[in-house]
Amino acid sequence: MDESPFRNLPSVDAIAQALDGLVGPRALAVEAARFAIDRARERIRTGYEPQSEAEIVANAGARLRALSRPSLRPVINASGVILQTNLGRAPLSEPALAAMRDVAASYSNLEFDLEAGERGSRHGHVRDLLRRTTGAQDGLVVNNNAAALFMVLSVLAAGREVIVSRGQAVEIGGGFRIPDVLRQSGARLVEVGTTNRTYLRDYAEALTPATAALLRVHTSNFRVIGFTHETTAAEMVALAKGKDVLVIDDLGSGCLLQTEAFGLAHEPTVQESLTAGVDLALFSGDKLLGGPQCGVIAGRADLVDQLRSHPLARALRVDKLTIAALNATLASYAAGTAQDEVPIWAMLGTHADRVRRRARRWARAAGAAGAVTASETMIGGGSLPGQSVPTWCAAIRPPLGADHLATTLRLGQPAIVGRIERDALLLDPRTVPESSDGAVAEALRRALASATA
Ligand SMILES: *Cc1c(COP(=O)(O)O)cnc(C)c1O
Repeated sequence: MDESPFRNLPSVDAIAQALDGLVGPRALAVEAARFAIDRARERIRTGYEPQSEAEIVANAGARLRALSRPSLRPVINASGVILQTNLGRAPLSEPALAAMRDVAASYSNLEFDLEAGERGSRHGHVRDLLRRTTGAQDGLVVNNNAAALFMVLSVLAAGREVIVSRGQAVEIGGGFRIPDVLRQSGARLVEVGTTNRTYLRDYAEALTPATAALLRVHTSNFRVIGFTHETTAAEMVALAKGKDVLVIDDLGSGCLLQTEAFGLAHEPTVQESLTAGVDLALFSGDKLLGGPQCGVIAGRADLVDQLRSHPLARALRVDKLTIAALNATLASYAAGTAQDEVPIWAMLGTHADRVRRRARRWARAAGAAGAVTASETMIGGGSLPGQSVPTWCAAIRPPLGADHLATTLRLGQPAIVGRIERDALLLDPRTVPESSDGAVAEALRRALASATA
């Protein structure tokens, strides 16, 4: 084998020198240079033409810029999925962002009672707004809803039995399975009914002196249709009445608004669950609530008190930024302004004509490859399974294929994520703030210009 192409590769030093003054410290330039030269060597080994020094410098430069960027950064979500778990679920409202900034930039009364001048509790800050918005007697906020469920079962049901419908012993996502959580918490799972039908009498027959709770789990990411029956929260409450048995409702999404107003199927609300009389309702902060990642436990004051004084409350507690953002988000609901202020509801409420105009602008930027097509925006994020609202997308069919364009946009700055359907890259403006329209149009122009050059 001819060694010369390998010997002709530039030195790490030479490439790092060429990058000088680009971005970042020298050590990063050396790392980028080494990476680009390794790639060049690998190309030669696999039989490709040796790269010129200019090409290697360009690759090293791209690597250096990538190394200098923060790993976690904003993405334009044009995928048409509102609660995209991989893209960070719900974007926060302006009031929530402002509240986080205020509290982050200075000291705060996080655990200090300003009136009494003595130590206070961080848990007190959310109680009033949770009461007002959900009707709960009291509430506690922990790291996420998975933590909320784990904590409730650990503290209130360990060593005893928890009855769950077979149709609700589900996997939520990311390997989070209800039977596993129950086992971890030390509670014993008693499954009743069948996958598609569970009646009140199934729960009644499974009750024993060892029963700690009846657990309802919202089957948030799939739907059983056809010959089905679910026992309602009210029926379960009636069954547990007068017995030492709790009714716990894992709602998943934590919806506070009537989803019918947005043309969607009815999503059970927190208020409905608590009105039905469940002892505790659990939900996420960053699904249909549209707030920060957290898990809310809302319900009976004595139970919340018991949870609050348990060591797990310390282990699973949220930070001041989460409390600030959650309170600002809840305040929008309390003020009746959530559908305008909370981004996910504003997205859902945007009129299709407005979305269509924006899709047209994006399609125009793609030139001959661009068109506008009717589509659906999905809710996603384990909420309202299969539910969507009508939308309009820019549909791009570029000469080099939709996959190639999708990759270019994903690796661009800012990164843009769309979805591929029938050989077209679809970009849905509904899930993108209007302030990003210019950036999307520009990225399309650039990507398609370089692909045809
Ligand atoms: C999403 C979901 C969870 C987990 O909530 P996280 O906030 O993601 O931890 C638990 N239960 C149900 C029913 C869910 O839909």
